[in-house]
Amino acid sequence: MNVVTQHHRPADDIDKGIASFIEEIIELRHDLHRYPELAFQERRTSKIVASLLSSWGYEVTTGVGGTGVVATLRGGDGEKRIGIRADMDALPIEEATELAYASDNPGVMHACGHDGHTSILLAAARYLAETRRFSGVLTLIFQPAEEIGAGARKMISDGLFERFPVDAVFGLHNWPGVPLGQFGFVADAAMASVDQAIIRFVGKGGHGAEPHKSVDPVLTSAAFITAVQSVVSRNVDPQDMAVVTVGSIHGGSASNVIPESVELKLTMRAFSETVRQRLQERIPALARAQAESFGAEADVNYRLGFPALINHRGETAFAQTVAQEAFGEGQVARDFRPRTASEDFAFMLLERPGSYLFVGNGDSAPLHSAHYNFDDRIIAPAARYWVRLVETFLS
Ligand SMILES: [Zn+2]
Ligand SMILES: [Zn+2]
Repeated sequence: MNVVTQHHRPADDIDKGIASFIEEIIELRHDLHRYPELAFQERRTSKIVASLLSSWGYEVTTGVGGTGVVATLRGGDGEKRIGIRADMDALPIEEATELAYASDNPGVMHACGHDGHTSILLAAARYLAETRRFSGVLTLIFQPAEEIGAGARKMISDGLFERFPVDAVFGLHNWPGVPLGQFGFVADAAMASVDQAIIRFVGKGGHGAEPHKSVDPVLTSAAFITAVQSVVSRNVDPQDMAVVTVGSIHGGSASNVIPESVELKLTMRAFSETVRQRLQERIPALARAQAESFGAEADVNYRLGFPALINHRGETAFAQTVAQEAFGEGQVARDFRPRTASEDFAFMLLERPGSYLFVGNGDSAPLHSAHYNFDDRIIAPAARYWVRLVETFLS
């Protein structure tokens, strides 16, 4: 499919256009980084985003799904409508980067690069408003609270796609470890579902020297932790991906006391609903059966988080072709693999067709690390990518 039409301006023009104001955008990124805000508290951020977009001629709606901002711009008289989403929230992490523009907000940090995603979309927004070389409706979605998996859902339940209809929606995330500015595309499942379980094994406490008079929840939980990995190896199709991690275990306080109970916290990841449901059936069943075999009990609180992010094939092929035409094959990562992290853009892709892509952040500290930093050098190419995507989709 040749999606790029002849009347596109050479990529150089977009580069020059963005280059003319890139320093301002980088300054803005540093400002957002210095004043990070947690999920649903992005008041300062959304105010800045809304006022810039208004000043560039967008029709701006604030308060969509809490602190979310939606901006629309019409070009020409085309019928097509495209949505692009960026996330705005930070994380409860104490920054350890020692950057000149490090967080001024103690215990809060842009450790996932959402300051960068917001800046990329603003750079594209400014260029697209100044040039308006598209025909149709452009909708920009600045989403709150991605990190707690709640912002996308809240915007959707606030009527996002009814109030601002789109034919397709796109989003991106920077990715450490992928060469700087290289693009990655994955058709179908691109990121995993995330669910949590809190399991409490309840026994009968007693003296550590008289175990036969107790029911030991420490031994029960040890047996369970080993057995639960059999769910991945024996209950899930070997061709499918599943992760079960026991990330927390708490129980007991002294070497000579058998405690009354032990509590475990688990996270589960999968790329399909079938696997996700299999984990949801097997893990509680295994916990109860293991407990029973030791004469203990298991309280299982299985909490569904959010589904796998499933990219739509047509839109992903389209998005990838745009990148190849704009940057050349060399800037598109070959065989980019799905990631086992999670992303609440999954909810938007359940509502509308679209695709979520990755942009290399080079050799940086990993996401959610106190040492992580978003690389400013990817703002210009990623913004140029959004411009090309919009101009091509709305050509
Ligand atoms: Zn994150
Ligand atoms: Zn993120």
